[in-house]
Amino acid sequence: MNSRSRAHSFKSAVNSNKETELNTQSLIFELGSTEKSGVDIENCEFSSNLIGESLRNKKIGLPGLSEPEAIRYFVNLSKKNYSIDEGIYPLGSCTMKHNPRLNEKLARLDGFANLHPLQPVNTIQGVLELMFELSKNLLEITGMEAVALSPAAGAQGELCGILAIKQALENKRENRSKILVPDSAHGTNPSTAALCGYEIESVPSNPSGRINLDILIEKLNDKVAALMLTNPNTCGLFENDILKIAEEVHKRGAYLYCDGANFNAIVGKVKPSSLGIDAMHLNLHKTFSTPHGGGGPGSGPVVVSKQLSSFLPVPMIKKINDKFEIIENENKNTNSFGRLKAFHGQVGMFIRAYSYILSHGSDGLKQVAEDAVLNANYIQSKLKEHLTVKYPGFCMHEVLFDDQFLKGTEVSTLDFAKAMIDKGIHPMTIYFPLIASGAMLTEPTETESKKDLDNFCEKIIDLAKKAKEGNRNLFSSSPTKAVLGRLNETAAARDLILTYSE
Ligand SMILES: *Cc1c(COP(=O)(O)O)cnc(C)c1O
Repeated sequence: MNSRSRAHSFKSAVNSNKETELNTQSLIFELGSTEKSGVDIENCEFSSNLIGESLRNKKIGLPGLSEPEAIRYFVNLSKKNYSIDEGIYPLGSCTMKHNPRLNEKLARLDGFANLHPLQPVNTIQGVLELMFELSKNLLEITGMEAVALSPAAGAQGELCGILAIKQALENKRENRSKILVPDSAHGTNPSTAALCGYEIESVPSNPSGRINLDILIEKLNDKVAALMLTNPNTCGLFENDILKIAEEVHKRGAYLYCDGANFNAIVGKVKPSSLGIDAMHLNLHKTFSTPHGGGGPGSGPVVVSKQLSSFLPVPMIKKINDKFEIIENENKNTNSFGRLKAFHGQVGMFIRAYSYILSHGSDGLKQVAEDAVLNANYIQSKLKEHLTVKYPGFCMHEVLFDDQFLKGTEVSTLDFAKAMIDKGIHPMTIYFPLIASGAMLTEPTETESKKDLDNFCEKIIDLAKKAKEGNRNLFSSSPTKAVLGRLNETAAARDLILTYSE
C-alpha cells in the first residue's frame, strides 16, 4: 500500500486535532532511502562461493537513515504517547506501576543481555541460577509447590494452569467438561477455558460484588473441572468466602484456579497456598513491576500445588550436584503436558522481577500491598461524594465506580474518560468489569505519592462537577489537546493496517 492510501485510511479512523502533523507522520520505511546509511561501511571486496553474488547484492529492504534521523523519528513518535514515566496510569486490573531503573540496569548487564538461548548449558550457569532462585522466591511468596516460568503473559499462564489441570484429570481418567467462571471475570478466563475445549458456565456475583456462593454450590458437580476465580476480584474486592469456596470445589473433585493478576493487593500478606488454591499465574509485569504493554514483553509464571506439580510444562531448571540443568524433554517420570513456547520464557523479565523482589525484601513486598490498598481507599474516600462507588465499603488495591453519578447529564463514561485526557491524566479502565454499568475501575498502585493522588482526585472532582452542571459539549468534543481527537474505535479496531509494502 502506498503512503497516500495508508495516510487516508489512517485518517478515516480518526478525527485529527493536528491535521498537518498527522499527515506528515510517515513510516520509517517511507523516510529512508537506499542511498543512505547510519554507519560507514567499506565496499565489500570479499567474495566467496558460500554467499552467492545474487544474495549478497540483494536488497533486504531496511530503511536507510542517518543516526540523528533515526533517533528523532523514534523520539518524536514516543512523545505522542502517554506513559507511566509521565504521570499516573490508573488502569484498574492492570497494575501499571513504576518500573524501578535498578531492574533495568541489571537486565542490561552484558552477561545477561548478550546470552543466546541455544548456548551450551555450561556457559549459562549464571542465568540458570537466577531463574532457579527466582523460582524459589516465587514459591516462598506464594507457598506453592512448583512453578513453570515459561508462560509469556497472564493469559498464557492461564492456558498453562488449565492444561495442567486437564492433564491431571486425564491422568485420573476423569471426564470433566465444564469450567465455572464468575460474571466479573476478565475475558481471558473464559477464552482460556474455551481454548482448552471446556464448556463455560458463568456464576453470578452477589449484591456485595463477590461470587454468589449458593449458586456456585448448586453448579458444582462431577462435570466441573475447575473454578477460575480472581482474588482480589476485578471489582477490587477480596473474596471473603475463599476458604469455603475452595472446600466446596475440592469436595466435588474440581480444582481451584486463581487468576493472580491482582496479587499486588495481597503480596507478602497472604500465601495463596493457605487459601486452598491449586494453580495460579503471577503477572510479573503487574505485581513485580516489569515493563508492561508497549514497554516490554509480559511474563506469567504459574505456581501450582503438590498434586499438580508433575503436570507442568517443560523446560524446568533443576540443580543437580551443584550444576544447573535444563530439563527439556518430557521425562518418563513426569506427566508434563509438554512445551508451551520456544526456549525458557521471558528471561529479561525474570532478571527484573528477581531484582524487584530482592530490593524490596519480604518487609518491602508486604508494604507494597499495604500501600496499594491504602492508596485505592484514599481515592475512594476522596471521590465517593462526587462519583458513585459500585460496592461501598473498604476496597483492596482498586476502586470500582459506576456511571450512576452521570445519570441525566448526557455524559457517558467514555466521554468522561476522554475529558480526563485533556486534563493531562490517563483514564482509568472503563466498561470493565461488565457487571458495573459504565464501569470506571481505578487502580493508583503503591508508587503514587499523596500529592499526585490529590492532584488526580482534584481533576476528577472538577470534571464530575462540570458534567453535573450540564457542560455536555466539553465532554463530547474531548480530547482536544491530545495528538489525536476522538477515535472511531470500531473502525480503528476493524480496519487495521498491520503491514507495509511498497
Ligand atoms: C491482566 C489480566 C489478565 C491477563 O494478563 P496478561 O498478562 O495481560 O495476559 C487476566 N486477568 C486479569 C484479572 C487481568 O487483570
